[in-house]
Amino acid sequence: MALRLYNTLTRTKEDFVPIDAANVRMYVCGPTVYDFAHIGNARPLIVFDVLFRLLRHLYGAAHVTYVRNITDVDDKINARAAEDFPDLPLNEAIREVTERTTRQFHEDVAALGCLSPTVEPRATEHIAEMKAMIETLVDKGFAYVSHDHVLFHVAAMADYGKLSNRSLDDMIAGARVEVAPYKRDPMDFVLWKPSKPGEPAWPSPAGIAAPGRPGWHLECSAMSDKWLWQEALPTLSEAGRAHPHEFDIHGGGIDLVFPHHENEIAQSRCAHGTGLMARTWLHNGFLQVEGEKMSKSLGNFVTIDELLSGPSFGGKQWTGEELRLAMLRTHYRQPIDWTARALDEARATLDGWADIAAKASVSGTAIEPAVEVVEALRDDLNTPLAISELHKIARAARRGDIPSAQKLAESAALLGLQPKYWFARKSREAISEGAAELEGRKEFIDAKLTARAAARKEKNFAEADRIRAELEAMGVALKDAKDPETGELVTTWEVKR
Ligand code: AMP
Ligand code: ZN
Repeated sequence: MALRLYNTLTRTKEDFVPIDAANVRMYVCGPTVYDFAHIGNARPLIVFDVLFRLLRHLYGAAHVTYVRNITDVDDKINARAAEDFPDLPLNEAIREVTERTTRQFHEDVAALGCLSPTVEPRATEHIAEMKAMIETLVDKGFAYVSHDHVLFHVAAMADYGKLSNRSLDDMIAGARVEVAPYKRDPMDFVLWKPSKPGEPAWPSPAGIAAPGRPGWHLECSAMSDKWLWQEALPTLSEAGRAHPHEFDIHGGGIDLVFPHHENEIAQSRCAHGTGLMARTWLHNGFLQVEGEKMSKSLGNFVTIDELLSGPSFGGKQWTGEELRLAMLRTHYRQPIDWTARALDEARATLDGWADIAAKASVSGTAIEPAVEVVEALRDDLNTPLAISELHKIARAARRGDIPSAQKLAESAALLGLQPKYWFARKSREAISEGAAELEGRKEFIDAKLTARAAARKEKNFAEADRIRAELEAMGVALKDAKDPETGELVTTWEVKR
């Protein structure tokens, strides 16, 4: 079966055909770094990580580019900086906030088992690209300068609103659009606005003397084009070059459809004169907590960091992998009800898989993931079905079928669930039972060392590093040294206490 994805733009599940199969290109809107990410924010991170892994599996890891930006200029950042660091000059305070939040974000996504995106562009490093886009939009008559602002004139675009499929009247009512003296039309949105003294500011586009800063929607239009078209161009085949400025997939949460993604499309299509920005638009459903909307006032608001770093939700401390498995039990387009029960079940499942993997000495050497799991994911990322297939494989493995244990590990890895974490679960148990138990598994460790030496000989350093990490997760530290006489590499190990 082909990969099938539900496209918000057409409201149908379609066969996914990349523009250039040698360069599959995906953009996902990243965080605005003013506050720690909450468990709702974890959903798009995990969902699009699974899609990234699946695309890498289907098209080859070297043939997929995934761009996820960091929005580091925003009114919410300015407000938080002034609140948290009232004694610092605003720009220094902003740096404190964005650096602290970005650092935490990177820790969170790593703990959730997400692969790094291919590129992680920051808005403040792409101001020149944004200004160029603004000037093009003004030149072409899609945008205008007014009171030191630049605004996109929605009425100038014939088919504005296709993604959210709403009439202009609905949009005006639904989004409570701001009527402002500098707007020709209430629907017009900001591409650039003036900064107050002390706020982050850059020299403005042509026609504005006062310094200013970009609007949020514009950032994604400029950064996606920079990294998925301009920088990709030298590597694109003829098929890719035949569709200038287009890319394959754009993702984010369902709340971004309007106005953010609608406005990204308007900016990009009008600036580049294209019929499409991204071909396939994917949106994850929202997460609510124990049947209620998550909000600070209801007291059920929880950050990824809180869940990971101590007893919190459900009175327990959770691992990133447990959060991931609990998240993937629901199809990405459905609303998800986040419950302590789902987390408990994820924990029990992973404990069971850790047992299987440890008993079978699963090594993670390349065999193919199970066809049933791949097929489930090909059907619009049907992760609940993929997980039930994993349970079936686990049942066979529990009956003593070693190839099934291996299949389980390989297939779970497509969902970003990895034996390296499972060994960590086992080793936590083992360490608490005393390190002697680990030393008793000397045979297992020696087999790993032999596999690692073989990988190094084949110059497969990724595999060698993976084995080292796997052992480290079990509490086994490796030390490489050269034999002074033969010059051969000799590896010794010890149990860290
Ligand atoms: P924000 O920081 O609000 O721009 O959100 C970052 C990403 O998380 C966006 O893709 C949002 O759509 C998504 N998101 C925010 N809240 C939730 C939620 N409760 N459930 C699912 N996704 C969410
Ligand atoms: Zn965006």
